[in-house]
Amino acid sequence: MQGLSVRVRGIVQGVGFRPFVFQLAERYGLNGWVRSTDGQIEIEVDGSGEALAGFLHDLREGTPRLARIEAIDSEDRPVSDYTTFEIVEARVGAGWRALPADSAACDACLEEISNPSERRHRYPFTNCGHCGPRFTIIEDLPYDRSRTTMACFEMCEDCRSEYEDPRDRRFHARPLACPACGPRVWLQRPNGEAVEGDAIEACVALLAAGQVVALKGPGGFRLACDAADAEAVARLRGRQRRYGKPFALMVPDLEWAKRLCEITPREAGELESRERPIVLLRRRAAGGVAEEVAPGLDTLGLMLPCTPLHYLLLRRFDRPLVMASGNVNGEPVAMGNREALERLSAVADAFLLHNRDIVARYDDSVVRVIADSVVPIRRGRGLAPTVLDLPFAAAQHILAVGAQRRNAFCLVKGSKAVVGPHIGNLDDPETLDQFERSVELFERLLEVKPDVIAHDMHPDYLSSHLANEYPAPSALRVVVQHHHAHVVSAMAEHGVREPVIGVVYDGRGYGPDGAIWGGEVLIADWKSFQRVAHLRYAPMLGGETVIHKPYRMATGYIWSLCRACEVDFEEFLGRVPIGERILLRRQLETGLDTPPTSSCGRLFDAAAALLGVRIEAQYEGQPARQLEAVADPAVHAVYPYDILRDGEGWIIDPAATLRALWCELRAGRPVPTIAAALHNTVADFTRNVCVAIREKRGLKKVVLSGGCFQNALLTRRVLDGLSDDGFEVLTHRLVPPNDGGIALGQAVVAYARTAGI
Ligand code: ZN
Ligand code: ZN
Ligand code: FE
Repeated sequence: MQGLSVRVRGIVQGVGFRPFVFQLAERYGLNGWVRSTDGQIEIEVDGSGEALAGFLHDLREGTPRLARIEAIDSEDRPVSDYTTFEIVEARVGAGWRALPADSAACDACLEEISNPSERRHRYPFTNCGHCGPRFTIIEDLPYDRSRTTMACFEMCEDCRSEYEDPRDRRFHARPLACPACGPRVWLQRPNGEAVEGDAIEACVALLAAGQVVALKGPGGFRLACDAADAEAVARLRGRQRRYGKPFALMVPDLEWAKRLCEITPREAGELESRERPIVLLRRRAAGGVAEEVAPGLDTLGLMLPCTPLHYLLLRRFDRPLVMASGNVNGEPVAMGNREALERLSAVADAFLLHNRDIVARYDDSVVRVIADSVVPIRRGRGLAPTVLDLPFAAAQHILAVGAQRRNAFCLVKGSKAVVGPHIGNLDDPETLDQFERSVELFERLLEVKPDVIAHDMHPDYLSSHLANEYPAPSALRVVVQHHHAHVVSAMAEHGVREPVIGVVYDGRGYGPDGAIWGGEVLIADWKSFQRVAHLRYAPMLGGETVIHKPYRMATGYIWSLCRACEVDFEEFLGRVPIGERILLRRQLETGLDTPPTSSCGRLFDAAAALLGVRIEAQYEGQPARQLEAVADPAVHAVYPYDILRDGEGWIIDPAATLRALWCELRAGRPVPTIAAALHNTVADFTRNVCVAIREKRGLKKVVLSGGCFQNALLTRRVLDGLSDDGFEVLTHRLVPPNDGGIALGQAVVAYARTAGI
């Protein structure tokens, strides 16, 4: 007989780890105990050397579905003469980082809901220790049913015996429930009138009849309708006042996904992952989905069912459903029943409701496979919160408030960074409210009291006001430039600390010179940056209004940078709405309300307008997404551009590129060819600038960040160009390249500046 003590670190709490250990000990005939302590699992076992070896082996190999093991440490100790194996009381202070995010239903639970002889047959809230809701229902820690929104449901005797049986997969599964004791689902009309019959059957019938149904999902409401029914989709758009923006679809299974889209094994893996994100996929020409679902795009956002409720629904409906966010006109997604009934009654024909409350709103996560890597686009349900290991241990607690749009905040405590869920656009007062509640919840859960608060440099951003007015007057405020934060967020993901070349192509970020930056090449480390190259400034006629009026961006570009084409300018002006021509001319001549920008996103806007792909935009980034959609990836042509010396650095002047684009169009060259060449040109000047920097400064590592790198074609071209030239290129894997990722960068910059490294 020998004794062994084992410590397991990682996500090992709330994931069925202790029953897993219990069953292993039983299988190998070991005595001793297991308990959780401060986010770790501690085990002591006595047994034969062979049995202990087998136990350790299976501990490593048989990890429960939701667990993520960081390390298993074991050491010999004297035998203790244990006579049983027991799960002993947890030691308090159970660490926050031990918790997983929500997870899709596991196979065993799906089996149960499909089996008529099971008591959970067709029960929408079936879950177990290996699946189900977590962060969306947790009100406080330590993790216990009494501190979740399941507290109000008294367990029945059957459930309780499962809960207390270490051999059962529902042992200590806090959200466990059954039809006898758990939450229930019902269907009602906006006026409160109940719809008779089985809620799911009735819901399917309404959807099949072209109606819009508001569904209470895991992290908030969604609006569903038949994706094949063009009229239903158009009706939903009209009621939601959401035009142009693509809708995500939920498909019954992988086979359906393959019918609609071309899917690589990598992408299939993402679709089927327990996080169940929306995966952006290349759409097939024919597919039986209304064009209105994703107008003008070559991609569709698909997801598989996640909760038992969705499985039941999709199995019966048996074809794709539109799953739009449950909101109107960009407001936050409705979360509570009453809130949904108030805000969505003009949008939905019926409501599929239930009585399990949601604590925190989690939008659906979105990912895209770009150049063989899975890139998060939005981190919500399943993906958030994300816990990252930092290559340092901060003595202070840090809160980074993130960006103004696509906001997500970040908290740093010790050597861990926790990036919160996607919040949205802080311009909206309700979203702002959501931000404050979410930060408060996480600070409580993680026991963080910020000593340092990091925020963006933009003086007018609400996020900056929030940081300044944050109720911690003595906390240090650290201001971080937008694109510096972008670069450092990618560096932190990869644990890189030494200076890199940071290529940041995005929509807009405040520059220290007061201009709007967004086509930037920086030399950056955690503490500081130097702007070595940028796109030449072009005027934004009317400031941020250009985002919806790309023709204004094109006008500004042609006028100020392409003077040689004065004739063309007159011709192009012919496309500008008559009422605006005089105004734009005056703005061009006086410079009134025309802030300069080096934004790469705006360059794509201008190009889309010039090519007639998108004269006006229904949402930010639409012109670029449509350019990517039409571009012919077989084209490798590059258009001319200029790189001008500017002191120690360079200015990239795309005037010649736009001129070429215009001339090619007039010469009858197909738009797909021209659109591709634009992407290639950006990749080409990026490579040349990086080569020049390497020659001067010897830097060989390049980080790519910014919203433009959600564009798969652009990312591939830039990556290929740089790799061919021998650069090591780092891209985002954990946080989004868009503004949803910058809080991490802000936090790390704040750490570096305040820790004096
Ligand atoms: Zn399960
Ligand atoms: Zn029960
Ligand atoms: Fe940005």
